[in-house]
Amino acid sequence: MKLFDVYPLFDVEPVKALGAKLWDKNGLEYLDLYGGHAVISIGHGHPKYIERITEQAHQIGFYSNAVINPLQQAYADQLAQSSGLTDFALFLCSTGAEAIENAIKVASFDTGRKKIIAMEKAFHGRTSGAVAATDNAKIVAPYNTGHAVEFIPLNDQKALADNMSDEVAAVIIEGCQGVAGIFEPAEGFLEKARALCDEYGAKLILDEVQSGVGRTGAFFAFQHTSVKPDIITMAKGMGNGFPIAGVLIQESIQPWHGMLGTTFGGNHLACVAGLAVLEVIEEENLIENAADLGKWLKSELQRMAGIDSVRGKGLMLGLDLGQPVKTLRSNLLTKHQIFTGSAADPNTLRLLPPLNIQKAELKIFLEALKKELE
Ligand code: PLP
Repeated sequence: MKLFDVYPLFDVEPVKALGAKLWDKNGLEYLDLYGGHAVISIGHGHPKYIERITEQAHQIGFYSNAVINPLQQAYADQLAQSSGLTDFALFLCSTGAEAIENAIKVASFDTGRKKIIAMEKAFHGRTSGAVAATDNAKIVAPYNTGHAVEFIPLNDQKALADNMSDEVAAVIIEGCQGVAGIFEPAEGFLEKARALCDEYGAKLILDEVQSGVGRTGAFFAFQHTSVKPDIITMAKGMGNGFPIAGVLIQESIQPWHGMLGTTFGGNHLACVAGLAVLEVIEEENLIENAADLGKWLKSELQRMAGIDSVRGKGLMLGLDLGQPVKTLRSNLLTKHQIFTGSAADPNTLRLLPPLNIQKAELKIFLEALKKELE
């Protein structure tokens, strides 16, 4: 059987990884400034992560959401402590799109409405509701077009106000737009969205699938502001590669049996992977590391010739080169063995390294980038 060919591939076959390094099948070493698309949070092959998953696999790896699994509550308790969010309930699932789909569903159930306001350039995933709220016509199939979604420009307070009504179930905003090319909500925009949602009885959904779990130097990117969403989605960095995602739902929103469900979500292995990530983040101060190294890296990049601007916070940065980055990205990989990310914006190079990357490793990247830009 052939694989359904939907991914353009780099000609690299990694077989081993540790920290921020990877090795291919020929033993060639690579530096990871892409984190497998913002997924690797505590670094590849972290010993605590391996130990917890191995230990759990020897006990029980999976049963079903029809029985008691105390690891789910343990995860929720640790998440409340790590994020500082104590008045939310947690629904566990497996992917970012699944989290988005359920977040929109909860908002729709709770308000009895079906209209969503999303941001231009947003990416929320590829399932039906998630892709309908994604601003990329190319990946929206005719079947996905039946949803009531209105797009407004990110940070346009007037457009948001003009489109709000008592038909709106939710406003959905990425904590920091990732796939688009690292565009943050401007000062005051989330506050305005919060106020408008309160005025019209709509839910404010923060999509932290890419920007969450410490990546921007706060547990969630929206925590750089004082705004509190009604619903938060998380995924990527949550499991350091193990598929686990979550929807945090304000306690005032009432669940009922059968409202949401999933076969794999919150299974034993996923929960211990998630717990190991949260514990390592705390023990190794990785959120502080992301904030500090991000600040340093951003200032180094801002001083480098050939870079128009640097966007983002922590270890979620976008470099705008004022010209397409395709060749640069390819040269970084083939000539310097450094993985970086692209974005929908062709001029943006996206950096999403593991949160425990070292300054010395970032210096190697800076040297290579400088050479290429010269
Ligand atoms: N939301 C955001 C902000 C994302 O960046 C992504 C994936 O890149 C998703 C949702 C979808 O996540 P997944 O690919 O796990 O379905």
